Amino acid sequence: MKVLKFGGTSVGSAQRMKGVAKLITGERNIVVLSAMSGTTNSLVEISDYLYKKNPDGANEVINKLAQKYYGHIEELYSTDEYKQKAKELIKHHFDHIRTFTKDLFTLFEEKVVLAQGELISTGMMNLYLNECGVNSVLIPALDYMRTDKNAEPDPVYIKEKLVKLLDEHKDADLFITQGYICRNAYGEIDNLQRGGSDYSASLIGAAIGAEEIQIWTDIDGMHNNDPRIVEKTSPVRHLHFEEAAELAYFGAKILHPTCILPAKLNNIPVRLLNTMQPEAPGTMISNMTEKGKTLAFQVSEELFQRVKEYLEAYEKAYHRRLTQKEFVIGLIEQALEEAEEEFEAARADEYEKQIEGCRESTADEDAEPDDIEETDESPEEETYA
Ligand code: ADP
Ligand code: ASP
Ligand code: MG
Repeated sequence: MKVLKFGGTSVGSAQRMKGVAKLITGERNIVVLSAMSGTTNSLVEISDYLYKKNPDGANEVINKLAQKYYGHIEELYSTDEYKQKAKELIKHHFDHIRTFTKDLFTLFEEKVVLAQGELISTGMMNLYLNECGVNSVLIPALDYMRTDKNAEPDPVYIKEKLVKLLDEHKDADLFITQGYICRNAYGEIDNLQRGGSDYSASLIGAAIGAEEIQIWTDIDGMHNNDPRIVEKTSPVRHLHFEEAAELAYFGAKILHPTCILPAKLNNIPVRLLNTMQPEAPGTMISNMTEKGKTLAFQVSEELFQRVKEYLEAYEKAYHRRLTQKEFVIGLIEQALEEAEEEFEAARADEYEKQIEGCRESTADEDAEPDDIEETDESPEEETYA
């Protein structure tokens, strides 16, 4: 069994949902879906209005978002029966969101609001598959995905509950479930942080001992740099788990930074694939890939802009275009310089703290004997031990 996760843009419109439906039918796998793109941002916006006690602002966003979904329904389903079922689904979730515009709004209510995006997208996809004659089954993430008292996923609980739920549907053609959402140790609705559907997929893969975890998105795999910032990047075909984790940690949005660990620990390969170009090979991440072969790195937008300005000034001053190699070297030099500055600043900080410590101990020595706090260690012991 494989785990296939589709991100927000992959299910961002009725047409895209139809495309995903084609990709997932035929094999008995677990499909993890994000909310349709833009939805979680809108839910955050609604929550912000409610925190600021502005129900009118919230209602405006809620109505706009609901209208969008009614539009998707018209495009996605072909029969009146399923259009009706989907309208009921949307009405149920939006009625629920609206209940929060009337009462006190806290972190707890926000988590419930944020969960609606994935509940809607999976509900819609499941109905669409059913309309197409596929016996897909919706497995509610809120029934098995759980974090412990340290807000870390609880793999034992997840495995036990998920395996049981899957066993209850032996005749299912395939399973659909929500990414991102979970319950916390107290049973309250919670989430795995923004972008956390990748993490859900990895945790599910680990729980069922999946053959492979596929992360389907809007780009043909992990690129050798951030394509949102750097021009002409290209996909990396193979990566070791540790290299992928490092790139994700430094901002490669294609992969949620925590997502790698459960897959790595359970030795389950992760494949990054492009929904818009399903035949492209994408990126294979595994423990088998030789480390250090890939020249990929993730640069922050701020640093990139600064280096770009600096190198452009250089080009102007010397009246020539820099080669790509010179550009990359400049980028690395600037990054090293930044790291050095950070190190110096940290050292200055430490020095300042030591000076402060000395001042305090001199002040203590000047104090009256009554003011001196008793400690187990005498100053001599501390200095000469
Ligand atoms: P999804 O909605 O499918 O989870 P994301 O938007 O979270 O997709 O991640 C995909 C995006 O990650 C790409 O469209 C790309 O702009 C961005 N990205 C940032 N760094 C990289 C990288 N090194 N390689 C590939 N994509 C990257
Ligand atoms: N829908 C959530 C988000 O936008 C989770 C995800 O897409 O991974 O952050
Ligand atoms: Mg993502």
